Amino acid sequence: MPSLTLTNVRPWGGEAADIHVDGDRITAIHPTGRAEPTGERLDGAGAVALPGFVNAHAHPDKSWWGKPWVSYGGKATTQGRIAHEREYRDALGIPSVDSATAVLREYLRHGTTAARGHVDVDLGVGLRGIEVLAEASAALGGAVAIAIVAFPQDGVMRREGVLKLLDEAAVAGATSVGGIDPASIDRDPVAQLDGLFDIAVRRDVGLDIHLHDRGELGAFQFELIIERTRRHGRQHRVTVSHGFALGELDPARQTALVAELADAGISWATVAPPRSAPLPWRELRDGEVPLGLGTDGIRDLWSPFGDGDILRVALDFARLHGLRTDADLTYAVELATRRAAGFVHRDVHDLVAGARADIVLLDAQNVPDALVRCPRRRLVVAGGRVVAADGELRI
Ligand SMILES: [Zn+2]
Repeated sequence: MPSLTLTNVRPWGGEAADIHVDGDRITAIHPTGRAEPTGERLDGAGAVALPGFVNAHAHPDKSWWGKPWVSYGGKATTQGRIAHEREYRDALGIPSVDSATAVLREYLRHGTTAARGHVDVDLGVGLRGIEVLAEASAALGGAVAIAIVAFPQDGVMRREGVLKLLDEAAVAGATSVGGIDPASIDRDPVAQLDGLFDIAVRRDVGLDIHLHDRGELGAFQFELIIERTRRHGRQHRVTVSHGFALGELDPARQTALVAELADAGISWATVAPPRSAPLPWRELRDGEVPLGLGTDGIRDLWSPFGDGDILRVALDFARLHGLRTDADLTYAVELATRRAAGFVHRDVHDLVAGARADIVLLDAQNVPDALVRCPRRRLVVAGGRVVAADGELRI
């Protein structure tokens, strides 16, 4: 890949700088004019530069993106949505390489260059979704780097054979194994969690567990997960996704639980839904519990919403939590970028020498302005390659 210099850009809204890229890496960042540009030269015209966005919780295999509109018809409960999806996904050809590629392209158009994809693994589709997503990712030359979670959407213990499929997925390239509401879906939280931790230990993979259960039932499962994470030495390898209950507990219980999560090295992913209880985000930040933002599924049999723009999810997060100051608004954008490195298995994801050259340019005064307006992406560079310009894909 040829080298590239983005001139006159403002990393994180700061002073004008030139970003030098060689191959798929950022090699240097200098104040504008300090060093000769190398290779292709693109004038950033003073745009704000950010690292590519990280979608820390996505379902790119489930969508009907790119197909005619599908009216939503399921019952508005977790069980109802699962049943609805099982009934209609075959007719919509889900999962398919075309739809998964269309979703990844939409992520990319909005500047998302890395995603953690929860891919359905169940008795109906087996591991086909994982193959589909790998093919979709390859079709885009790896522009969107994907970390795959093998996700047992339809339950684990209540469907005999799913644990074995998850084990096979861990061998077939999934870097994490998922779980779902061990209490309300399987009605056997200890068995599901013990089964998942057994795979995590034997295959040395991460765990990322969907928890929709509310109130004390949810909190009880956080405790089961914390205890097993410590006992099996899986610190920094376990994530709770959604975890709505955390926002619903009284402040003292929240503080105690966050301290336990921090101590056990557990990370948290949220999609900041508008009707959910705000998370104790200051405690999570101060306790250094990694927090990631995700789109969840977009245009699927669970919900008609979502456009794949993680900056918009950061704005939802800011509004849900009443963020107002420039520092707090910038924090929301950091959640969508450099603070999410671990969710896609990176040590560093930022505008620094040595990082993968994932860069987004936005016409904005500063980072808070970019967040509240979510403007069109002026330029998207993924792995050193220009993939979108003026809001349109170039690949
Ligand atoms: Zn999800």
